[in-house]
Amino acid sequence: MARRRQLYEGKAKILFEGPEPGTLVQYFKDDATAFNAQKKGVITGKGVLNNRISEFIMLRLHEIGVPTHFVRRLNMREQLIREVEIIPLEVVVRNVAAGSLSARLGIAEGTPLPRSIVEYYYKNDALGDPLVAEEHITAFGWASVQDLDDIMALSLRVNDFLSGLFLGVGIRLVDFKLEFGRLWENEEMRIVIADEISPDSCRLWDIKTGEKLDKDRFRRDLGRVEEAYQEVARRLGILPEAGVRDLKGPETMQ
Ligand code: UDP
Repeated sequence: MARRRQLYEGKAKILFEGPEPGTLVQYFKDDATAFNAQKKGVITGKGVLNNRISEFIMLRLHEIGVPTHFVRRLNMREQLIREVEIIPLEVVVRNVAAGSLSARLGIAEGTPLPRSIVEYYYKNDALGDPLVAEEHITAFGWASVQDLDDIMALSLRVNDFLSGLFLGVGIRLVDFKLEFGRLWENEEMRIVIADEISPDSCRLWDIKTGEKLDKDRFRRDLGRVEEAYQEVARRLGILPEAGVRDLKGPETMQ
């Protein structure tokens, strides 16, 4: 079967040319990386689960009027998205201290933060995605003050909404990462959520047990990584009935 033209291959996803101008196909791999790609591995079935979980979250965001690049899921591992100009920032929203914040500031993991904190990292693999301030972002032209206003407002809205969504299924949204893109429609530019929202980009802890249900299981060699991603999908009500075996299904069903 003729494959679509590949435009970009990242650590966990591949982008292909879409069926019509202004669209792309986002393919979810099982590959996992951590610590700026120094640690590499495969989490079997992860791509299928992240495709589903991200679809679910993007659809829920659309319902509350948060714009995203998502159009529709095409098959087990692919979704159709709008082509956007990616803003070179990783926007992290935190509710509870963990990961790099705990390491950098010496705040014990699990400490609730007095209020949600939004951080910006400059997307640059060679530099290891350094933490940057708004000053750097506007001075170097990565985003304007107006863009940052929109990004901050959308990030906090997504945080409130997703915190409630996950709370409803017994999961604490500790932190997560968002990416944003610029979308032009009739000379008008809109900032929309891009990339994915999944256990690869969120810290999700079981409310009762504190068990980690996210990529930290891979980063920290905690085992039962696939099971954690499945558990998130199951709680969100999107695990296919046939179970795990079904998830490994054909890679591309046209
Ligand atoms: N994150 C991500 N991609 C990155 C870095 C971080 O998706 O390249 C997510 C990560 O999964 C976590 C949040 O952003 O949910 C905060 O990550 P942190 O800054 O604590 O970095 P880490 O401990 O992952 O190095």
